Amino acid sequence: MVVPRLIERKRDGGVLSVDEWRDLIHAYSIGEVPDYQMAAMAMAVFFRGLAPQELSALTDAMLASGDRLHFEDDPRPRVDKHSTGGVGDKTSLLLAPMLAACGVLVPMMSGRGLGHTGGTLDKLEAIPGFNTGLSLRDAETQVRTLGLAMIGQTAEIAPADGKLYALRDVTATVESIPLISASIMSKKLAEGLNGLVLDVKIGSGAFLPEPERALELAKTMIGLGDARGCPTVALITAMDRPLGVACGNALEVGEAIAGLRGEGPADLMTVTYALGVEMLLLAGIDRDAASARRRLEEAVRDGSALKAFASMVAAQGGDVATIDDPRRLPRAPIQHEVRAPATGIVARVEPRALGRAIIDLGGGRRQVADAVLPDVGLEVSAKPGQHVRQGDVLAVVHARTASDADAAVAAVLGAISIGDAVSDVLPLIAWRVTAAGATPYGGC
Ligand code: URA
Repeated sequence: MVVPRLIERKRDGGVLSVDEWRDLIHAYSIGEVPDYQMAAMAMAVFFRGLAPQELSALTDAMLASGDRLHFEDDPRPRVDKHSTGGVGDKTSLLLAPMLAACGVLVPMMSGRGLGHTGGTLDKLEAIPGFNTGLSLRDAETQVRTLGLAMIGQTAEIAPADGKLYALRDVTATVESIPLISASIMSKKLAEGLNGLVLDVKIGSGAFLPEPERALELAKTMIGLGDARGCPTVALITAMDRPLGVACGNALEVGEAIAGLRGEGPADLMTVTYALGVEMLLLAGIDRDAASARRRLEEAVRDGSALKAFASMVAAQGGDVATIDDPRRLPRAPIQHEVRAPATGIVARVEPRALGRAIIDLGGGRRQVADAVLPDVGLEVSAKPGQHVRQGDVLAVVHARTASDADAAVAAVLGAISIGDAVSDVLPLIAWRVTAAGATPYGGC
C-alpha cells in the first residue's frame, strides 16, 4: 500500500477498494500510517465524499479495529439510541431506564459534551460517585443482570475511530456526512444491538442545522445499520431552542429524575416518548406505536423506570440518595433569576448562545481534556411563542461566582428575544426516517 497514491486518488475523485480501506485503517490504528497522511485523506474525503462501498468498508474497518459487546447467547432484544446532540437534551437519561423497565437490554455508550452541546457522561458524573468508566466486560455483565449500563466509549471500542475523530477535530474535517456516519455507526454497531434509534437534530443549535443535511446524515446511518443486521430508524427533532428547562449537568439529572417520576416538561417528554416508542418497536416488544407508548407510560407510572435508573446508579457507584432527594445533587452557590426586560412574545431562545453561556460558567468544555463543573447551568423556562410580561422570570442562572452569574445573565438576555410575534419555530419532531424514506412525523 502506497499511501500517497491512495490520497492522490481520493483527492482526484477516485474510489479506493474495500481492501485498500481495510489496510489503510488497520495501518493507521497500529501507527504505521502517520497522522499527517490520514489528515490529508480525511480532507480528501471531506471534499470528494465516499462511494457507498467505500463508506461500508471504512465503517467495517473501524468496527473491526476493536472489541465489541457480546450478547449472542441472550434472547432478549438490545436497542440503543444516539443523538447528534444539543442543549438540554437529556433523553438518554430517561430512555435507558424506561426501556430496561420494559424488558429491553440497553447497552448505552455515550459521549462527553464538546462545543456548545452537553454530553451524557458529564451529566451522569454529576451524580456523586457515578462511574462511567466500566470495562466492556463489566458493562456486559451489568446489562445482563440489570438490563442497562451507561458508559463512555472505551479504548476497546473502535479505537481507529477514536484516533481518526481526534484528528478530524483538529483538522476541520468533522462536518463530513460519510465520516460522521462511519464514526458514529462503527461505535454503535460494536454494542451488539438489534436496533438503533437516531435522534438527528436540526435548527440553529444543531451540529448540522440544515434539514437537508440532517436527512442525508440520517439516511446514510440508516443504510449502514440496516445492512449490518441493526435495523435503524431516525427522528428528526428540533434544536432551535433547548429541550426541556434544565441545561447543565446536575440540573439535567434532576430534570431526568422528575421525568422518570412523570413530572418532566412537556417538550422533553414528547421527544422521549417518541424515541422510546421507536425503540420498543425495533425491539419487537410492541407491534404498534400506541401500545408501545402505553407500555412506556406505565413504566413511568408504576415506578419501574425510576427503579431501573436507581439500580444502575447504585451498580455504577453513584449516590442513590440523590434519586429520592434530587436536592442532594451538586448545587451551585448562586442562583440568579433572569427577568423579561419587556412585555411581549418570546420570539427566539437561541440554544447555541445558551450552550456557550454554560461553557463560560464552567459547565462545558473548550478543549477535550477540560474538567466540567457539575453544579452550574441554566434553567430556561422561556419557550418560543410564550407571552411574557416585563419582569417575568425567563431563566435562572446557577453559578459559582457573582461575576460568572452577571456574565451569564447578560448572555441569557442576548439569547432570548422578545417581540410582537414568534419567528419560525421548527416542529418538535419533524420527520420519521427509515430505509423507505422520510415521512412527516405523525405522533405516537
Ligand atoms: N460524533 C462522533 O462520534 N463522530 C463524529 O464524527 C461526529 C460526532
